Amino acid sequence: MNKGSKIYVAGHRGLVGGAIVRRLRAAGHDNLVLRTSAELDLKDQAAVRAFFAAERPEVVVLAAARVGGILANDSYPADFIYDNLMIEANVIEAARQVGVRKLLFLGSTCIYPKLAPQPLKEEYLLSGPLEPTNEWYAVAKIAGIKLCQAYRRQYGCDFISAMPTNLYGPGDNFDLEKSHVMPALIRKCHEAKLRGDRTVTVWGSGRPRREFLHVDDCADACVYLLAHYDEEPIVNIGVGEDLTIRELAEMVKEVVGFEGDLVFDASKPDGTPRKLVDVTRLFGLGWRPSIGLREGIEQTYRWFLEQEEVRGVRSEE
Ligand code: GDP
Repeated sequence: MNKGSKIYVAGHRGLVGGAIVRRLRAAGHDNLVLRTSAELDLKDQAAVRAFFAAERPEVVVLAAARVGGILANDSYPADFIYDNLMIEANVIEAARQVGVRKLLFLGSTCIYPKLAPQPLKEEYLLSGPLEPTNEWYAVAKIAGIKLCQAYRRQYGCDFISAMPTNLYGPGDNFDLEKSHVMPALIRKCHEAKLRGDRTVTVWGSGRPRREFLHVDDCADACVYLLAHYDEEPIVNIGVGEDLTIRELAEMVKEVVGFEGDLVFDASKPDGTPRKLVDVTRLFGLGWRPSIGLREGIEQTYRWFLEQEEVRGVRSEE
């Protein structure tokens, strides 16, 4: 991939796609092709084919997906499975048709079985039942992996798949119903601090364990894989360390400066008990993360405050 390579980043307005665009631009890649979902509906096969035929990108990063936290997944199963299947099938087939040289498909660690041993090794894919709260999304993502592998076998396409662990960072969705745990906790602690509330409610028991990867580290790993990986097996992207939701909530509370107590709401689902990826394959390729968790939360909280300020100014206008 040289500086002038034409690279299509699908999903550039999302958390990961946005970070990949920033990372590519920082490395001097300026021949990027980007389309918003209003400009190009990736669920529309004819539109996707026409777009690929017109643009003929050399490299594709498939970071477009319908995503959401535990509640959104559980509430909109049809949207999660249908939209993701359509996006993947349309983009991957169109990429083959125009001879895309390299494609990176982004999945998620929820493709692994609910009770798979931890840390999650890539070979645990399809070795047991999925976590029911997000199986719709997971089944679609597994289909995306299999599409890449099938296209490699049948057509010799250099299509690779990477599975980032739980991500966070600037650009995340801070909507309390739809977001993942990190942005939800940042927002809840921030608003509780402003209101002077005595407590913040954390969903579930606080006991599930999760690993968190800063989205800029994820983007760095994706660009690294584009340059250094060309094989069929999937590759995990993570930091190789996890903590409990309670520990995370304590850390967010400290960073935000909320001085009240955490209350755990057992009526909300815990989801999978633990999610930590085995990063032996990725680290073996020579990549390492560079942003520590606390530093990453501090930086994300600063970004959130800037957004709040922008929103505040807008609502005064
Ligand atoms: P998951 O990793 O796919 O389960 O997705 P989430 O990031 O949505 O949830 C991770 C864990 O954090 C689950 O155990 C949730 O119950 C817990 N959690 C605690 N408070 C919250 C919250 O305010 N929002 C979300 N989304 N999860 C929370």
